[in-house]
Amino acid sequence: TENINPLANEEEKKIENSIRPKTFDDFTGQSKIVENLKVFIGAAKIRGESLDHVLLTGPPGLGKTTLAHIIANELGVKIKVTSGPVLEKPGDLAGILTNIEEKSVLFIDEIHRLSPVVEEYLYSAMEDYKLDIMIDSGPSARTVQIKLPKYTLIGATTRAGLLTAPLRDRFGIKSRLDYYESDLITKIIKRSAKILNININENAAVEIAKRSRGTPRIANRLLRRTRDFADYENKKSIDLEISKKALLALEVDEFGLDEMDKEIILTIIEKFSGGPVGLNTLSVAVNEDPGTIEEVYEPFLIQQGFIHRTPRGREATELAYKHFNKKLYRLNNQ
Ligand code: ADP
Repeated sequence: TENINPLANEEEKKIENSIRPKTFDDFTGQSKIVENLKVFIGAAKIRGESLDHVLLTGPPGLGKTTLAHIIANELGVKIKVTSGPVLEKPGDLAGILTNIEEKSVLFIDEIHRLSPVVEEYLYSAMEDYKLDIMIDSGPSARTVQIKLPKYTLIGATTRAGLLTAPLRDRFGIKSRLDYYESDLITKIIKRSAKILNININENAAVEIAKRSRGTPRIANRLLRRTRDFADYENKKSIDLEISKKALLALEVDEFGLDEMDKEIILTIIEKFSGGPVGLNTLSVAVNEDPGTIEEVYEPFLIQQGFIHRTPRGREATELAYKHFNKKLYRLNNQ
């Protein structure tokens, strides 16, 4: 089954990069975010200034990395890419920032995983474009202040709730990406198919889109797995029949729900009589971090109408009962 956050291997990453949209025109959906970014980028260019720091939040696979590259591309500047866990020491950050070009972009993925000391250094590097670094140790230790060129920091995180207030406040532009409606995913699948030279029928694309959990990364992977089935059967194009067969073999849920989605819904129904159940209680029951449930799983389940939030906690909806009762009914009949 498809994982919500699959660790791509090198080959997968290469393919992912080859289908990554390079411009706003190629980027489907998230229209409000895109419209705003276009204005801010245009204004920065007219003024000849660097773009304000940008924070991109939202579940994995929705296009944060893609948008960071597009922003740099549309600004016409270079981009340096790193991530929170890679920047272990202040020196790692200093090494990058002292070499950065004026107005260019530094992209820090998983910015919620920065160590507290590196984060501390980042504050002045973002606000005043200055970096205090320690030279030597012992009695001759001293700090020198380095002036940095004006650059744009783009931070990405799946867990906005883990960011400290001082860090969050230093981003002038904050955008939260949402799960894509399935017609937009269909469009993304057709675009990827074209680039990868895959023939796919409209209704097959729609079928894959419905089961992609509103996530472009999952859609692209299902497209490629489905192509394997088509190739194996010597079919020149992916039609509805082969896509259904592939999705069945891949055990993809008809609503695109993954294992944790199902566990959350079933736990609310079976262990808490449909709810309401508080986030922390639910978190213990499904053995997943409450923040991840709230920021990664729940937005999709709410968007799709499987659960809703009430002041007293989470509740399973009628749709959730229907979806799973049907399955239970079928199981009982086997
Ligand atoms: P994130 O950084 O949020 O985890 P990525 O930017 O790496 O996600 O996107 C994952 C994959 O999905 C990429 O290969 C990219 O091509 C594709 N993708 C994401 N958003 C879009 C979009 N709006 N239009 C087309 N393809 C997209």
